[in-house]
Amino acid sequence: MNESDAMTQTALEPNDTARQPTSALPSTARVVVIGGGAVGCSVLYHLASMGWADCVLLEKNELTSGSTWHAAGNCPNFVGSWTMMKIQSYSTKLYRELGALVDYPMNYHVTGAIRLAHSRQRMEEFRHVEAMGRQMGVEFQEMSNREMQDIYPFLETHDLYGGQWDPLDGDIDPAQLTQALAKGARDLGAKIVRFCPVTAVEHVQDEWVITTPNGTIRAEYVVNAAGYRAAELGRMFGRDVPCVSLAHQYLITEPIAELTARDTKLPLLRDPDSSYYLRQEKDGLLLGPYEKNCRAHWVDASDPMPDDFSFQLYNDDLERLEWYIEDACARVPLLGTAGITRVVNGPIPYAPDGLPLIGPMPGVPNAFEACVFTFGIVQAGGAGRLLAEMIVEGETESDSWAVDPRRFTDHVDQAYTTAKAIETYSHEYAMHFPQIQWPAGRKAKLSPLYDRLAAAGAEFGSYGGWERADWFPKNDADRRPADSYDRQHWFNTVGEECRHVAAHAGILELTGFSRFHLKGDGAADWLASLVTGNLPRVGRIGLVYFASAKGKVLTEMSATRLAEDEFLLITGAGAYWHDRDLLNGYLPDTSDITLTDTTRDYATLLVTGPKSPAIIAAASGLSTAQADFPWLSHQSCQIAGCRVTAIRVSFAGEAGWEIHCDMADVVAVYDAVMAAGAPHQLGHFGMLALDSMRLEKGYRSWKSDLTSDYTMLESGLGRWVKFDKDDFVGRAALQAEHQAGSQRQFVTLTLDDPVDGNADPFGEAVYLSVVQCDGVDAGLVVSSGYGHRVNKSIAMAVIDKDKLASANQITVTVLGRPRAAHLVPTHVVYDPNNEKLRG
Ligand SMILES: Cc1cc2nc3c(=O)[nH]c(=O)nc-3n(C[C@H](O)[C@H](O)[C@H](O)COP(=O)(O)OP(=O)(O)OC[C@H]3O[C@@H](n4cnc5c(N)ncnc54)[C@H](O)[C@@H]3O)c2cc1C
Repeated sequence: MNESDAMTQTALEPNDTARQPTSALPSTARVVVIGGGAVGCSVLYHLASMGWADCVLLEKNELTSGSTWHAAGNCPNFVGSWTMMKIQSYSTKLYRELGALVDYPMNYHVTGAIRLAHSRQRMEEFRHVEAMGRQMGVEFQEMSNREMQDIYPFLETHDLYGGQWDPLDGDIDPAQLTQALAKGARDLGAKIVRFCPVTAVEHVQDEWVITTPNGTIRAEYVVNAAGYRAAELGRMFGRDVPCVSLAHQYLITEPIAELTARDTKLPLLRDPDSSYYLRQEKDGLLLGPYEKNCRAHWVDASDPMPDDFSFQLYNDDLERLEWYIEDACARVPLLGTAGITRVVNGPIPYAPDGLPLIGPMPGVPNAFEACVFTFGIVQAGGAGRLLAEMIVEGETESDSWAVDPRRFTDHVDQAYTTAKAIETYSHEYAMHFPQIQWPAGRKAKLSPLYDRLAAAGAEFGSYGGWERADWFPKNDADRRPADSYDRQHWFNTVGEECRHVAAHAGILELTGFSRFHLKGDGAADWLASLVTGNLPRVGRIGLVYFASAKGKVLTEMSATRLAEDEFLLITGAGAYWHDRDLLNGYLPDTSDITLTDTTRDYATLLVTGPKSPAIIAAASGLSTAQADFPWLSHQSCQIAGCRVTAIRVSFAGEAGWEIHCDMADVVAVYDAVMAAGAPHQLGHFGMLALDSMRLEKGYRSWKSDLTSDYTMLESGLGRWVKFDKDDFVGRAALQAEHQAGSQRQFVTLTLDDPVDGNADPFGEAVYLSVVQCDGVDAGLVVSSGYGHRVNKSIAMAVIDKDKLASANQITVTVLGRPRAAHLVPTHVVYDPNNEKLRG
């Protein structure tokens, strides 16, 4: 390829349209959407389609003038996350119908796409995603090298393992898509005002007052759909949106005779291992790499974001792409025969994990975000529907935690966002292997115990930004993970940690729990009206569950009842802002009830195992009998002269105590417990061992097996739903489901050992394994792993009740390979009668 043919990119002239607003600014609207790219227009269209026509979109410049106008327009269904696949497959279906639906024909080429595999692991990823796609009607197909060449004759395949075909991939004209959505919205009665930048917002008496140079508009709800300007707009709400603009480039070649001669467009080609996409654009080719060392713009005062960057591009920078261009030319030699006619280098907004923000604006009432889209063209349709559902119905059909803005909490600043975003961009097509976390943005939240644990050899993981020990390698050579879905080399060490806890005792720091201190007259009644079950008695601790109005699982907290109207509510580190906003959202404006966030004030140590009673007694100076207070109760005592609260619980399923102390005291308390534990072989263990042990006990994990995809009853939480108590959120829906019978059922399965490979099923967040009854897809694994105390792979799943009832054989598909599975009727694989737990 002759790179000197590349055009030097100059900014396009801004649209000539007059800079006055294109229509009068209404004085009120139910929802104001700020930003007229593909996403904002889709939100408006879906609000109007759901009957909310009294909505207004305000656009600073012309529609599409942000990132939308220059996008390559690729629309894949393939994506490793269940939530994202739902969003994208809804979009591609909508786009196939949209032209006719809104009477706005557009260029949408459904060419299909080939994805290449350079390794066995990549083929395994494809098989896994294929099984997941089948669950939502997206049909991927495995391809041999020969099959790929049959439909893509210009492809070199000698070094490939094969590939995958997505028949419904393709490319759409992003500007036409946006205009079609805008037309659809307008036809339904919604309004769009262009050249109307929002300059300030204010929340006045339950209403938003939105200021523009053309006047103000009042609204019940506001949506930030400002694309790469989302952080600028967010600041008007007092919110730091985690967003950075990276420079993403693609190049387009001159026409190629072989393509001109064809009567069908070539399928899209993605080479995830080399990290680029390549597709036909008119009679030329369009190549877009996700390169290492990409460039972030506008991150500090030395490089401020211009007030207006509408319809503009960065200068092209092909040097960064050299390796990728050469690699693509070797893969498709036809590419190397043509000169470059155009380079597009534009701002692509990135959140730290590369997924968009779709959902409630953290800490801000009646405000939502639909911004920071890295793949906003293919995601616009699904995102618009999701957000409209959230606003109109108050909840969504399926769980959307993967894109919920509250997943990033108080440790996420600009430096963190930039570091993680660059890492994510350069791994855009990388495989996400289970139990592996990438290194950027680490050590965001450290407990005072971090150095002690590091000195003890801990390998850490990040949990809601908090560093917690994952496992304790025996030597440094063991630290590097393998790029593989197979069991990692730490499998045996983690197993030893579990067995040590079961035989003796183990200690794990769990600092970072989200904590809320609830107090005041009426606090118990208020809490009881929210949770589905009963509250614990004073002096006791219990699990409480919050459901949505439709009875879906929102969250789980442990409630320690300190007094009649006083509770300590503890929840996962990652749930921090989600649960804070949930509780605050229900808090009455006028009452004596107070809710105090004490997350950063306290630390937690878990001491568990059969020798833990003796250790707690020795550390606290209590007699063994005094220290051995009943399971699910709590006591105050002193360790190392520090006041601690000891709670008799253990997520590991052994006798155990959670010791909660002031953050400042945790080192002294830890030292005292370690000294007391030395004669009892107290050892360290990590989060990986804890996860294995909680699976064996059937204990649940938030946003893994506790998600709003399923109701309380479908999630197997019926014993925490008390229909005989006064009303609670979700009661009517759960009562109706209880009477009619649930469609789906929570099951715990053990799996036969694998015949081929040794990967365990994985059901967390990124990929979901599929359960089949008699060979027919019946549901999904929601949580899974290996139980080291019982020597079995374990999977929790939610599956179709009728299929299960008539099933002769259950299998779980792991990386495309079926494994025989067996129901565990009690859901508890280890110590089903809780004898060890009670000590
Ligand atoms: C080179 C390149 C190629 C890409 N290729 C693809 C692809 O193939 N497929 C894909 O899915 N994605 C692709 N993308 C990403 C895609 O372009 C973006 O994800 C998408 O355009 C984001 O749409 P949006 O509506 O969220 O944001 P934008 O299109 O940026 O729209 C935001 C709008 O908000 C307006 N605005 C901002 N502040 C205010 C304010 N204060 N008041 C009023 N209005 C305001 C802006 O003017 C702008 O019009 C690509 C990106 C780049 C850079």
